[in-house]
Amino acid sequence: MEIRVLGAHNVESATSKLTSLLIDGVLVVDAGALTSSLSLSEQERVTSILLTHCHYDHVRDIAAIALNTTYFEGNIRVYAQASTLAAISDHLLNDVIYPDFTKVPAANPSLTFSPLEPHKVEDVDGYKVLAVPVKHGAATVGYQITSGEGKSFFYSGDTGPGLSSCWEHLSPHLLFIDVTLPNRLEEHAVSSNHLTPYLLGEELALFKKVKGYLPPVVPIHLSPQFEDEIKEEVGRVALELGASITVAHEGMRLSL
Ligand SMILES: [Zn+2]
Ligand SMILES: [Zn+2]
Repeated sequence: MEIRVLGAHNVESATSKLTSLLIDGVLVVDAGALTSSLSLSEQERVTSILLTHCHYDHVRDIAAIALNTTYFEGNIRVYAQASTLAAISDHLLNDVIYPDFTKVPAANPSLTFSPLEPHKVEDVDGYKVLAVPVKHGAATVGYQITSGEGKSFFYSGDTGPGLSSCWEHLSPHLLFIDVTLPNRLEEHAVSSNHLTPYLLGEELALFKKVKGYLPPVVPIHLSPQFEDEIKEEVGRVALELGASITVAHEGMRLSL
């Protein structure tokens, strides 16, 4: 399984893109930097998209790839909790902001919405997908994605502290976890349901305690304004826990 980081940040600029992962060229997780990172032929290969929650920075390229898919005469299946899909239908693909691409083009709509439920393993294009609720403002799930060869990773989506209830359900070979802000902004991080390096350390220590191991960790959804500070603080957490922690960046490729 090859994972390509298309976007690793919570802020878009000339040098940072919104959070999005591409797995084996076909499966996308969160659509923050999907169309801006992929050529048209790469976009045409995408078969399914998993969404963690309805916030703009995670769903916005659903509209863009839906339009492009009309030219490919293709169909992409979008998996998310029912409330996330309803928010997209009501506020984005609502025939005002953009067409309802679950009905357009009439002969072969670009998108098919597939609601999924937490804690139920779903088969998506041969991958086993397990959605696990995390703590965030909008209803949010993280995803454990397992390949046909049995390799798996967990991507938390946006989350605040309190992942211990997730850990018992998971056994990933790699962890992508939200680390949005530096330690000195912990109050802001907690009130907006995100993590800092210190809070990440607490979650990882619990993971190690519950699971008896700690896989490599990739912090993602960084605020680029504080990236140097976050990296330095994450480095300290890695030393303290004896963990392998490498901050995500656009273009990063990981093989499992
Ligand atoms: Zn969010
Ligand atoms: Zn976000």
